[in-house]
Amino acid sequence: MKPNISVVVPLYNEAESLPELHAWIQRVMEANHFSYEILFINDGSTDDSWKVIEELAQRDQNVHGIKFRRNYGKSPALYCGFKAAEGDVVITMDADLQDSPDEIPELYRMITEQGYDLVSGYKQKRYDPLSKTIPTKLFNATARAVSGIHNLHDFNCGLKAYRSEVVKNIEVFGEMHRFIPYMAKNAGFDKIGEKVVHHQARKYGKTKFGLNRFVNGYLDLLTLWFLGTFGKKPMHVFGFLGSLMFLLGLIAVMIVGGVKLAHIINGTPAPLVTDSPYFYISLTTMLLGTQLFLAGFIGELISRNADSRNEYQIEKAF
Ligand code: UDP
Ligand code: MG
Repeated sequence: MKPNISVVVPLYNEAESLPELHAWIQRVMEANHFSYEILFINDGSTDDSWKVIEELAQRDQNVHGIKFRRNYGKSPALYCGFKAAEGDVVITMDADLQDSPDEIPELYRMITEQGYDLVSGYKQKRYDPLSKTIPTKLFNATARAVSGIHNLHDFNCGLKAYRSEVVKNIEVFGEMHRFIPYMAKNAGFDKIGEKVVHHQARKYGKTKFGLNRFVNGYLDLLTLWFLGTFGKKPMHVFGFLGSLMFLLGLIAVMIVGGVKLAHIINGTPAPLVTDSPYFYISLTTMLLGTQLFLAGFIGELISRNADSRNEYQIEKAF
């Protein structure tokens, strides 16, 4: 039978936290009479994490483990967890005890009773260093603007709840775990909510992401925006920009030609075309225009050959 809840926990070197986390989740589930499974995705840990997971699984049949042979990252871990999860509601949480399992019942209720597709935790009061919280604010503001999901304060919160359908229809890859709400929205799941959650300082171990998370995050955001907007029609963006460039070039050429012609008609000595700035403008814009068109055509060729070219989100069918 399908459990009510699947808890997906990606982890990398978190052996000390796991027993505590497991006991806490178990306590909450039993107090609320939920049927559940816990999926620990061991992302190539080099400490005792896997041994701890095996021990937990021996004592509790709700515990399942997936062990990566090497460290791939949080997104691949979530991807595999999502694939394996069988519950009606899927909850993701970090393994480091920064997210509180006490939030689970309310998150579950928001999905099942209030009809949300996805509910993201919001660490309103954070216990992280300033070097992390300030860039995070900027980052979230950009993510809100680009994704158009204006009600989310905290895209990257590890604690989130999903209707099972959502996780089965999105493909988290690279480092895209920061933008799962945006991916869900692109896939047509737009009832996205937020819940203020308690946050704690990391008890054991240390953070696995450095400051480069912000640079990577911005680049990923750009990619997602592009894929979501033009992914299936690259020619529309490149063709438009290319035409614009070409038009500019054409105007510049006409000015260059016109000036030359006017001098010839008047019988005055015409200046060299290379003396005119418009000559250089036409040269660059026409070259750029051709390049952009080429990018568009190649983009179309690639997207036409992609396996996913006819993948659409079908909600219902008879
Ligand atoms: N994590 C992972 N693979 C990685 C890096 C991190 O599975 O390559 C897990 C990590 O063990 C934790 C979660 O992702 O359970 C969030 O990581 P962390 O607490 O370091 O991130 P932060 O709280 O600093 O954003
Ligand atoms: Mg953490």
